[in-house]
Amino acid sequence: MLKTHSCGELNKNHVGARVTLAGWVDRRRDQGGLIFIDLRDGQGIVQVVFNPEVSKPCHDIASEMRNEYVVRVSGEVAPRPPGTENPKLPTGDIEVIAHNTDILNPSKTPPFYINEDTEVEESLRLRYRYLDLRRERMKENLILRHKVVKFMRDFLDARGFIEVETPILIKSTPEGARDYLVPSRLYPGKFYALPQSPQQLKQLLMVAGVERYFQIARCFRDEDTRADRQPEFTQLDLEMSFVEEEDILSLLEELLTSMVETIKPEMRLMKPFPRLTYAEAMERYGTDKPDLRFGMEIGDLSDIVAQSNFSIFRSAIAGGGKVKGICVPCCATYTCSQLDELNKMVRGLGAEGLVTMALGGGTGSLNDLTGEMVKSVVTKFLTLDQVKEIAGRLGAGMGDLLLIIAGKKTRLVNTALSELRREMGHRLKLAEPDLLAFTFIVDYPLLQWNEETKQWESMHHPFTAPKDEDVPLLDSAPEKVRAKHYDIVCNGYELSSGSLRIYTSHLQRRIFKLLGYSDEEVEERFGHFLEAFDYGAPPHGGIAPGIDRIVMLLAGEETIREVIAFPKSQTAADLTFDAPSPVTDEQLAELHLRLREE
Ligand code: ASP
Repeated sequence: MLKTHSCGELNKNHVGARVTLAGWVDRRRDQGGLIFIDLRDGQGIVQVVFNPEVSKPCHDIASEMRNEYVVRVSGEVAPRPPGTENPKLPTGDIEVIAHNTDILNPSKTPPFYINEDTEVEESLRLRYRYLDLRRERMKENLILRHKVVKFMRDFLDARGFIEVETPILIKSTPEGARDYLVPSRLYPGKFYALPQSPQQLKQLLMVAGVERYFQIARCFRDEDTRADRQPEFTQLDLEMSFVEEEDILSLLEELLTSMVETIKPEMRLMKPFPRLTYAEAMERYGTDKPDLRFGMEIGDLSDIVAQSNFSIFRSAIAGGGKVKGICVPCCATYTCSQLDELNKMVRGLGAEGLVTMALGGGTGSLNDLTGEMVKSVVTKFLTLDQVKEIAGRLGAGMGDLLLIIAGKKTRLVNTALSELRREMGHRLKLAEPDLLAFTFIVDYPLLQWNEETKQWESMHHPFTAPKDEDVPLLDSAPEKVRAKHYDIVCNGYELSSGSLRIYTSHLQRRIFKLLGYSDEEVEERFGHFLEAFDYGAPPHGGIAPGIDRIVMLLAGEETIREVIAFPKSQTAADLTFDAPSPVTDEQLAELHLRLREE
């Protein structure tokens, strides 16, 4: 080794020791006589002192050193003079008095500070990711990710799971996104697809008798760029045979609970994980990814206002829709422009508009509410009793702001209110930052109707099993069929969907048919898979939590890009390598491809 110790490991016990260190210059201070270097390596930082009276040549070399130079130093560990200790630094009681030094490699001036957690434009950080990853916060994120993955591996290993790698060059396996395709040189005109997930492969492993499989699996989905999605991301993919829904949920709950308690004991969990049915989640939170760190539940006001004189409310309900609302605590003083902004937001989400009701006038109880205390355009269409009933339903008190949305399409009402709830919860800082509200959502519908394609599509993926008692409804009322499908969400983010799978070829074919696949298409795309089911496929199921998002939540970061070593930009570009990039005509010719003039 070019060093005897790492910078971060030195402490009082090393006083008097002769050490050789190597690393980067984190900071350099020239104080006339003495030069101080904070020397940084993978394990931490230590202060090195260059004293011309100890070694003049060393001091001369140190005066050449600049930030991010790679240097080596030999010297003696000494206690810091009393009063100069740095309690913020683990090595802050000592320093190294340099006797010998050399510069192993100089560095250009970095495009941003490595030794400060200052805001830097993300494209610059990604362009120089190797410098960005030198920064303390990013280094901690890499280490945290390592710990999370190691914990998962050890946990599952101890429970009889084996990790099996599955191929990256395969055939399309649908998860509802577009495939990344790889042209074949050996088979002109044919393509591999990168897996959107190892879904079919892990199911084949169940047919192969593996029984307990997992993989830290890379998945590829060519989706339109959406905030905080990556074209390639990592899942803890797992699958088990001979299990019921409960077995998978309790395994996951135990895994996540013990992982957080071991790796991030300072964070709090809701135990046991709350469970909501899909219908309940939609009703109470307007979304199947609710953030349960705070209340602000959505209330259905339709019965109260159905007979009111306000035509927008009446017509929404008459048209088969709903009138729903939330109560935002202590925001009755919101100004017109603040309310306008919220109105714009919900219109942007497809809602027709927002009705606001501010309950002003002190801190008394709702019983004392008078007409004058309510600020809203709808008060003249509602009786005071109706207003009180609305306020009561939403759990409001004096000083609160009620946000109400009416619409013929309940789905749009729910979406708008769930976004308002998220936004207001965020603004009012209602969520405890150290709380992880893992939540299971269960009893999903199997299918949803796509208005554009006029076809049924899977809520999860086509391999999800319907509930046994709902199978008879597949032909008569597909919309009523519930699935053996569960999701795990945390703090408003979906971590994963999972399900028990179909394991007979006849039921799988029936589902493909319902989804609009022709017999030929089924044979072409899934023939290999269906055939396996006829050789004794066991009942099985699984789930695949997203590792990027789990680490993001544990790290308290806002985007998954902060916890991926080399992420793509928000527009799916690799800025470190500048990819995607053009290829030569020869490469295209080898692949039997010609580019079309756009
Ligand atoms: N393959 C699924 C997904 O990526 C997860 C699962 O069903 O296990 O969402």
